[in-house]
Amino acid sequence: MKTLLTEEQLGEGIRRLAAEIKKHYEGRPLTIIGVMIGSIVLLADLIRLLDMPMRVDLVKARSYREGSTRPGPLVINVDMLSESIQGRDVLLVDDIFDTGRTLWELIPQIDDLGPMSVRSAVLLWKEGRREVAMKPDFAAFKIPNEFVVGYGLDYRDQYRNLPYVALLEPHEIGE
Ligand code: 5GP
Ligand code: MG
Repeated sequence: MKTLLTEEQLGEGIRRLAAEIKKHYEGRPLTIIGVMIGSIVLLADLIRLLDMPMRVDLVKARSYREGSTRPGPLVINVDMLSESIQGRDVLLVDDIFDTGRTLWELIPQIDDLGPMSVRSAVLLWKEGRREVAMKPDFAAFKIPNEFVVGYGLDYRDQYRNLPYVALLEPHEIGE
């Protein structure tokens, strides 16, 4: 395992991300929706840096088959939202923009619920992997096309609790 982003670098990146988001919304109330499970660590750190009126909610999306680093079928559940988002500014928060398929499929489902606007913020962006006609609105770090873990991101349910982001080496990925 090789460290890609240290705790200190993550802290700086998330402060930059929070500043951009604050500037964009100029104090308007926001509904922040975390995409479970990978975004929970970012979500916890990010919301504490945003001193503005907000609601926090969660949806669940799963695109990775257990025990594989290759994407499987995408399952999204927006029914678990606990509050109406009608007329609200919505910010979707996810751990990583990889192919982009999760946000690409999630955004229309959120749009159907009648928000005023929908934007997306991610911690990591693997720019070269994009397969859809959209980009994240806010991204803290661009990273190379390699499988990463930590700070919410797992491999076979492990490593989510690492306080930093690391690359797994080929011998650590048993495909
Ligand atoms: P996308 O739909 O953009 O292809 O992928 C989004 C989801 O795939 C992420 O929210 C994350 O759950 C998973 N994913 C993509 N790349 C990685 C990676 O490098 N490491 C881990 N652990 N998960 C990833
Ligand atoms: Mg995810």
